[in-house]
Amino acid sequence: MLLTQEIIRKKRDGGALSVDEIGFFVRGITDGSVTEGQIAALAMAVYFRDMNMDERVAFTLAMRDSGQVLEWRSLDLPGPVLDKHSTGGVGDVVSLMLGPMVAACGGFVPMISGRGLGHTGGTLDKFGAIPGYCAAPDAALFRSVVKQVGVAIIGQTAELAPADKRFYSIRDTTATVESVAMITASILSKKLAAGLDALAMDVKVGSGAFMPSLDKSVELAESIVAVGGGAGTRTAALLTDMNQPLAPAAGNALEVRLAMDYLTGRARPARLHEVTMALGAEMLVLGALAADEASARLLLQGALDSGEAAERFARMVAALGGPEDLLDRPNANLERAPLVVPVPAPRAGYAASVDCRALGLAVVGLGGGRRRPQDPIDAAVGLSGLAELGDEIAAGAPLALVHARTQAGAEQAVREVQAAYRIADAPAPPNPIIYRTIR
Ligand code: URA
Repeated sequence: MLLTQEIIRKKRDGGALSVDEIGFFVRGITDGSVTEGQIAALAMAVYFRDMNMDERVAFTLAMRDSGQVLEWRSLDLPGPVLDKHSTGGVGDVVSLMLGPMVAACGGFVPMISGRGLGHTGGTLDKFGAIPGYCAAPDAALFRSVVKQVGVAIIGQTAELAPADKRFYSIRDTTATVESVAMITASILSKKLAAGLDALAMDVKVGSGAFMPSLDKSVELAESIVAVGGGAGTRTAALLTDMNQPLAPAAGNALEVRLAMDYLTGRARPARLHEVTMALGAEMLVLGALAADEASARLLLQGALDSGEAAERFARMVAALGGPEDLLDRPNANLERAPLVVPVPAPRAGYAASVDCRALGLAVVGLGGGRRRPQDPIDAAVGLSGLAELGDEIAAGAPLALVHARTQAGAEQAVREVQAAYRIADAPAPPNPIIYRTIR
């Protein structure tokens, strides 16, 4: 007979839990038979004693199977089911372009996205900036958009991985989030519930990243690749730089504009392009849509150049209730903040470093993110024209533009952006855009 307290004791004493023990505990999380105190105790035991890869796979699968697991086989899709996930960043607008690009190359992307967390933006909140866009369609509409358009980006539903929802909320209040084993299972249980053939993971590194160091980011990426593979989904991970915003804008409507400019070719910032192409190439290769990275990049570039990727984005938006003319008339459809104020550089020099987390928090302060889970989001506010590391800046020239609702909000954000940048007499050596790829 399995007893919850014996499972906790075993982990407390450093033992490895069996598939049955993990399954029993996770069923108890879902049906409420395991108490909040027991869940907190197990989380603390795992925090200190860790889980080996077999335990992580069992834990991931048990949480994935705690709710609905989407299946696509019955739709007879003529291509692989692919997705991408990022650990979160500032100006990380990649999903908005990558989903349509991969769809244009023959993949099917049922992307279940999340809200912003802390200083990082969330893909779901970005779609919240598009009037009429329904991020909670019923299953029939979701499936039909994935089938017809090749991509549908929606929000997490209560039916997907409910065990993780309860487990995470207890970890969040018991100082047990920072465990690679539990983060792996948490991320993958939700992603794998979407019924994926393959997943490309973007693990961020740097001052705006969720993981505190390069070593920890590498550890998480290696864990996700091993556990994803062990759970039957081909998985690769890129370690990418988040020592500065990935795109020159942060804020929901501003990032939607930027994604559309990227797709139509009006503007394609270099670092954003490189990370998008590298993640897309992993997805196409994992999904056997391309033989190698070089041919995958050609396919992705072709989808941009032909306008097919932009077209898929427009069709997805319209199919999910958004404006038919979003791509052609962004100004008519996306809200704009009443105040747009430059942030003057306090001195001349080179942008040598930036506290990326502080920039994300400046956007939250403007109302573009949440202080409390129930807070509404102001889609219009944020930062644009952000100076890149290495840029030479004259005294008083803009480090960024603040898009604000109120004068007081604008002034506060100007001070925060000024404080976030360090301007030096000489440029610092640039960080890599991609640190490592783990396959
Ligand atoms: N994001 C998740 O979804 N889960 C974690 O545990 C940490 C970050």
